[in-house]
Amino acid sequence: MKSDDLFARAVKCIPGGVNSPVRAFKSVGGTPVFIDRASGSRLWSVDGTEYIDYCSSWGPCILGNAHPDVLKAAEMAAHKGLTFGACTEGEVELAEFICDCIPSIDLIRLVTSGTEAVMTALRLARAFTGRDKIIKFDGCYHGHCDSMLVAAGSGLLTGGISSSKGVQQSIASDVFIAPYNDIRSVKNILDQHGSSIAAIIVEPAAGNMGLVLPDNNFLESLRDLADRHKCLLICDEVITGFRFGPSAYSTLYNIEPDIITLGKIIGGGLPVAAIGGKSAIMEQLAPLGPVYQAGTLSGNPVAVAAGLTTLQLLRRLDPYSRIEKLCSDLASQINSFCKTNNYPVFTNQKGSLFTIYFGLKSEPHNLDDVRQCDTSLFTKFFRKILEKGIYFPPSQFETAFVSAAHTEADIDRTVSVFCRAITELFTE
Ligand code: PMP
Repeated sequence: MKSDDLFARAVKCIPGGVNSPVRAFKSVGGTPVFIDRASGSRLWSVDGTEYIDYCSSWGPCILGNAHPDVLKAAEMAAHKGLTFGACTEGEVELAEFICDCIPSIDLIRLVTSGTEAVMTALRLARAFTGRDKIIKFDGCYHGHCDSMLVAAGSGLLTGGISSSKGVQQSIASDVFIAPYNDIRSVKNILDQHGSSIAAIIVEPAAGNMGLVLPDNNFLESLRDLADRHKCLLICDEVITGFRFGPSAYSTLYNIEPDIITLGKIIGGGLPVAAIGGKSAIMEQLAPLGPVYQAGTLSGNPVAVAAGLTTLQLLRRLDPYSRIEKLCSDLASQINSFCKTNNYPVFTNQKGSLFTIYFGLKSEPHNLDDVRQCDTSLFTKFFRKILEKGIYFPPSQFETAFVSAAHTEADIDRTVSVFCRAITELFTE
């Protein structure tokens, strides 16, 4: 197999053979599938195997893989030059477009990764409030800047790493952790330490411990507590931004964060992320203010062209209700199949996001609930569906994505493969 050969070469020159740990098949066994190309709802491996793709590059490809209009926009921009390190019209257009879609963003700064966006958001919050500490939620992932690697989700959950080595204790101790959906915990932390808290950072729908949705009033209560204690509310919308509608999740649900971080979809598959918020906060950024942030490839013209075209297509085509229907059909069919057969498997879904939790019979609300999963069942499931041509995020603690390129036939085939695999898990 060419994938095996490539992986054997990769481990000799890349740590663990991967450039991001979530790509390693560590928790599901075997070697990673190496991808040759992708189109629409499909991926093809270097060995020529075709897969229906539910990984979606971990979120950017909401229009499906290699959308022709996005490719064309990137190609046209590339012909004019890959990077100038100087101002371009495209970055202004993307910034204007996002500000127009998300009313709580007055000013926006483009960066190249979600990690960078969050890092800058936290720095801004500290500078603006003159305070040092942050509240984050157990199982939420906000990229790999030092302070956010405490009790983080995604690859750290999969790898069983509760906190990364190499993070100074002084930085880790500036972060308070609360269980997701637990307002009482947040209130307790703020009652005791309110005057030193710069910000509460939250994934408004958590996607990095699998999909965990905010309970009624959770986000509203966070907004309220942040106001009362004069700290900032940062909504990390790197996954959720433009995922549920042509705006931020917080906008769609009438929450007004002080800072929003975006990524994934706004780059249409190329590296674009962003920090946006109220003028008074964003004006702290250099060159206007004293908070430094910079980037050689920030607002890269090719990436910005792909991102802007993606957002324009989302606005024009408005595929959201159709993708939501496909995804909810998928989830409800699996749930009713498992319920009828009394299999302990629960599929959580919202919009075009879903996670199949093995070992759970009802919706999880926080990381403790998610930890009840039987990851060995997920591993077996993953291997079975991969063999049947379905490419899934290789971890129990991740969210899967349906795109606008998926068809009803894709969903039907997926449901039938999933139901057969689940049956085998409990009868073999
Ligand atoms: N925030 C959230 C909510 C994320 O899901 C991620 C990545 N999955 C990040 C931040 C970090 O983004 P990046 O991988 O682009 O650094």
